[in-house]
Amino acid sequence: MFETVIGLEVHVQLNTKTKLFCSCATSFNHKQNTNTCPTCLALPGALPVLNKEVLHKAIMLGTAIDATINTTSYFDRKSYFYPDSPSAYQITQLYTPIVEHGALKIDFEDGSHKTIRINRAHIEADAGKNIHDGDISKVDLNRAGTPLLEIVSEPDMRNGEEVVLYLKKLHSIIRYLDIGDANMQEGSFRVDVNVSIRPKGDEKLYTRVEIKNINSFKFIQKAIELEVARQTEAWEDGVYKEEICQETRLFDQVKQETRSMRGKEEAADYRYFPEPDLLKVSVTDEMMEKFSVIPELPDQKMARFVDEYGMNEYSASVLTSSVEMAHFFEAMMACGISAKNALTWLTTELQGRLKGEMNISNSLVDAQKLGSLVKRIEDGTISGKAAKEVLDYLMQNSADVDSAIDTLGLKQVSDTGALEAICDAVIAANPDKVEQYQGGKDKLFGFFVGQVMKESKGSANPQTVNELLKAKLG
Ligand code: ADP
Ligand code: MG
Ligand code: ZN
Repeated sequence: MFETVIGLEVHVQLNTKTKLFCSCATSFNHKQNTNTCPTCLALPGALPVLNKEVLHKAIMLGTAIDATINTTSYFDRKSYFYPDSPSAYQITQLYTPIVEHGALKIDFEDGSHKTIRINRAHIEADAGKNIHDGDISKVDLNRAGTPLLEIVSEPDMRNGEEVVLYLKKLHSIIRYLDIGDANMQEGSFRVDVNVSIRPKGDEKLYTRVEIKNINSFKFIQKAIELEVARQTEAWEDGVYKEEICQETRLFDQVKQETRSMRGKEEAADYRYFPEPDLLKVSVTDEMMEKFSVIPELPDQKMARFVDEYGMNEYSASVLTSSVEMAHFFEAMMACGISAKNALTWLTTELQGRLKGEMNISNSLVDAQKLGSLVKRIEDGTISGKAAKEVLDYLMQNSADVDSAIDTLGLKQVSDTGALEAICDAVIAANPDKVEQYQGGKDKLFGFFVGQVMKESKGSANPQTVNELLKAKLG
């Protein structure tokens, strides 16, 4: 019997305004090679200067994962040649990274937990992009020098499920901290998966294979499955030593296989050495105090929702599953409505109406509007049924809630005068039913309510109607 051993390296692009070592913008929608300067083009003589915002964001992440923040850390040079890196080296942190010895708790569906240790998180510069266009290749250096945080786990995961839970948790923390977009498709959250197998019970680590740049959770799970099968088969066939070597492999989603890309370099191949153009990174007490202040994280928020609003864990986990969702819910609550209604109107009514490219962030109905709509149900202005119509309308038209209610003519009549007249008319038109009701046929009460609602074309406030009829019928 074998056990799978997995460790992850995640490259997170930090959402700073400017690059890691120069003041070029980090925006990617500009014309190629326009966000560049002598530093990120690696022209001779240009010197790097560390962007403090990067340090701030790295310390926030370190705080969120309960890690040690090194008050002194260093940059190192990793040498390699590639056309999208004009300096022919990458500035990274090998020997003493800014963040070390963290941990992340993952939660299984059955309520149990596991802690995955994080070895380190270090700052490094991203390369540019090679664009292959038929016979020619072009280089765009707009991305060169963009700050990355590489977060390296210990080999603590044992299957694809744990990997996905870990990645989702890490992703969510980055979004809550707002230190990066963490968009997998766009490459701002890049995952390398290191996989090995070993006989169950064996403590030692066997040869790992690194699978690079897989851009969806589904493919990551598939790649692990395929790689484990390949290694297990080699072991069972007695050719493990010959066939499994430390290397970098690619996941081919079309062929459904992992394929060798290149032999894994050893650290020595990179000729690492301390970066001579940069000073050591010193984190002062003052910086530490300021930078380690972080917003509420998903786990804490979830516990607070359970506590504060008395909702069950499942609902709280749905509401905290993304930072956008959590903020939407909280903004709705600011309208002074019940948590239960906010939950339903957000997760069932609004989300049920979002189609295709629409999501809660770009919906015409923002949290303030949806909160006000719920408020109008709670204060009796409209019925729940009418509110659904209002919401349909608001999804298509940019109007505010009250004017939409007016436009659609859905305001409930709570004005006793008007309703009293309708009640009197209904009673007068049904003397036989009144007699039966007063003779003890309680069930007929519903009939009267129904008639009044019908006469008012559904606009009567049912509670007011109930009270009026009770009083009139005795
Ligand atoms: P490199 O950049 O050379 O890949 P790192 O130290 O950055 O090296 O990352 C190594 C990753 O591989 C870590 O996530 C670590 O947990 C994982 N790892 C190390 N040994 C094994 C192994 N035998 N099986 C699976 N994962 C491993
Ligand atoms: Mg690696
Ligand atoms: Zn630059």
